[in-house]
Amino acid sequence: GNSVLQNFAGQPAVTVDGYRVEIGANIGTKADAQYALEQGAEGVGLLRTELIYMAADRWPDEEEQLAIYRDIIQAMDNKPVIIRTLDIGGDKALPYLQIPPEANPFLGYRAIRLCLDRQALFGVQLRAILRASAFGAVQIMFPMISCLDEWRQARSLVEEMKDQLRAEGQSFAEDIQVGMMIEVPSAAILARQFAQEVDFFSIGTNDLVQYTLAVDRMNEKVDYLYDHFHPAILALIGQVVQAAHAEGKSVGMCGGMAGDPQAAPLLLALGLDELSMSATAIRKVKFAISRLELESCRNLLADVLQLSTAGEIRMKVEQYLTRKDIR
Ligand code: PEP
Ligand code: MG
Repeated sequence: GNSVLQNFAGQPAVTVDGYRVEIGANIGTKADAQYALEQGAEGVGLLRTELIYMAADRWPDEEEQLAIYRDIIQAMDNKPVIIRTLDIGGDKALPYLQIPPEANPFLGYRAIRLCLDRQALFGVQLRAILRASAFGAVQIMFPMISCLDEWRQARSLVEEMKDQLRAEGQSFAEDIQVGMMIEVPSAAILARQFAQEVDFFSIGTNDLVQYTLAVDRMNEKVDYLYDHFHPAILALIGQVVQAAHAEGKSVGMCGGMAGDPQAAPLLLALGLDELSMSATAIRKVKFAISRLELESCRNLLADVLQLSTAGEIRMKVEQYLTRKDIR
């Protein structure tokens, strides 16, 4: 019950045989940060900054954003915080941003595409994040990157903003880490090329599943097809982890799969360095990991990779977890 799980909040996520994975929280506000810390978050793997924009009635300016980021960093006790730049469009709207109706909003004008089109607004956010980096271990992460050009443009905009701040005598962390989400299949497929240029990856399975399986993540009529145990998803994750590690880069996961205790044995075996999830999932995932051995997770993964449907994989994993008494 809850009291058993409570013991796991303050502990690291370590397997029986001593293999450790970092546990982060997905948050949007300072209140979320405080709760995440209570639940045992070791950092923030995903700060969804669009929640800050959605709560405002006009574009939040640099000082306003800086104050919010600084509050969150301080609430997190100076643990690492990955700030994701504005991920608007798709299912998320802003009252003060008129986007003409689109036939396919999830394939349209959203996230990094919108930001690169409105560089003045994007620059404000990057300056605020950079200035926040003077107060803690901040990292910058771009959403929805689908090609190298987008990554390079966004990355060089960070350098431009650093130059501005330097010229103004503003402080920021010169060595701030800049990474990207892997949530578009093209980025997963080209992970090796991206890995040469980024500081880190974080796999966003919510969108990666949607785009890889061509299943709208909001449409209940097709949600029986939406499954992160699909062998194509496991193959992409494995490829991304290998690409990152081959270039000496770390790779986390911040989509819903990271917070699924049933996925934990596969994610450990696949080699994810960090799992970031909603705060409510942290103790359950830490508990599940505490009952696993890396060696047996690797055997399970090898078996699973021989299977060809999500249903077969799910059944195999459930059998394994039942034997470990993890439900
Ligand atoms: C994801 O796509 O997996 C993700 C973490 O981002 P969001 O859910 O905000 O799209
Ligand atoms: Mg996403």
